[in-house]
Amino acid sequence: MADNFYELLGVGRDVSDEDLKKAYRKLALKYHPDRNPDDKEAEEQFKQVSHAYEVLKDPEKRAAYDRYGAKVFEGGIGGGGGSHDPFEMFREVYEGAGGGGFGGIFDELFGGGRSSGQGGARGGANLQYDLTVSLEEAASGVEKEISFRRAVTCDRCHGNGSEPGTNKKTCNTCGGAGQVTASRGFFQVRQTCPTCHGTGSIIDTPCNQCSGEGRVMKSSQTQVKVPAGVDNGSRLRLSGMGEAGIGGGPTGDLIIVLHVKDHEIFDRDGDDLYCQIPIKFTLAALGGAIDVPTLSGRASLKIPAGTQSGTTFRMRKRGMPSLRGYGNGDQYITVHVEVPKSLTGKQKEQLEAFAKESGDDREPVGKSFFEKAKRFFEEH
Ligand SMILES: [Zn+2]
Ligand SMILES: [Zn+2]
Repeated sequence: MADNFYELLGVGRDVSDEDLKKAYRKLALKYHPDRNPDDKEAEEQFKQVSHAYEVLKDPEKRAAYDRYGAKVFEGGIGGGGGSHDPFEMFREVYEGAGGGGFGGIFDELFGGGRSSGQGGARGGANLQYDLTVSLEEAASGVEKEISFRRAVTCDRCHGNGSEPGTNKKTCNTCGGAGQVTASRGFFQVRQTCPTCHGTGSIIDTPCNQCSGEGRVMKSSQTQVKVPAGVDNGSRLRLSGMGEAGIGGGPTGDLIIVLHVKDHEIFDRDGDDLYCQIPIKFTLAALGGAIDVPTLSGRASLKIPAGTQSGTTFRMRKRGMPSLRGYGNGDQYITVHVEVPKSLTGKQKEQLEAFAKESGDDREPVGKSFFEKAKRFFEEH
């Protein structure tokens, strides 16, 4: 997917809703598959411009795109948007227009006559908050209170920007219509009024608290419910917890990006956990059971007699819970056999007796390896 939606539609970043529609209409007609049968490139172009338009036509999404770029619209947890099928969008348009051919379709949906909602309203931006949790918290799920700063609607002027008790003036440029008509060659083009930005009015006495902005920066607190199973980069979306909109536009969202701290004992790979545990050489030889740490507490692991150093055991379902609710991953335990570093006189005697009993004094351990090594040296 192309990243620059404005470039894709051939418009500037300050494009008005009206001009955006026109640019899209032109490109969608040009690349529509009905007009370009079996043309994969045209089909791809059609999908891309439709996706770009779908984002930019929505003030909330456009604000998020302006702030974070195209990535925000590529799915993710609870990401409300992104995977819209452009053909579906086109079909809705087509059926809505009673199937009167291309011109009819687009005139009905995008053409003049229909107002594009509240004049000058703009959606508030989405905000991002980086939240770090421990592996244990990621495993069990956790609720955290976070505090952050965001633009909220000014409570003195209720967002309209005028000092209470004063009135707004009608905009002189557009006479209150919010739009002005400009000539472009043979065409008359309506565009958002540059003076009042579509609101139709001008603030006479700006609000004392927000200086006419309609919004003020304020610290906000909220509870974040982190579900069990999150991993680095998991995203949560708190709808309506972003920045307040302008001129009655919708509030943006707060996007929580999760980071999971490294753990002292466990390494994580997806839903599986890995850890290394030392065991005594007598246990490895004789077999037995050891207590091993798991995220849900101690668990007993059976060590079979004759376990070699480096052997990995799997404990089913002792890993991380799946974020999507499909059970748990596994825990893998690799054992390392520890050889005693110092021996008492009695231990030494016993081990020597053991060696004699095993025939170790006559035949070295790993005989077959030494035979292979001997052959290797003879051949090279
Ligand atoms: Zn105010
Ligand atoms: Zn105006």
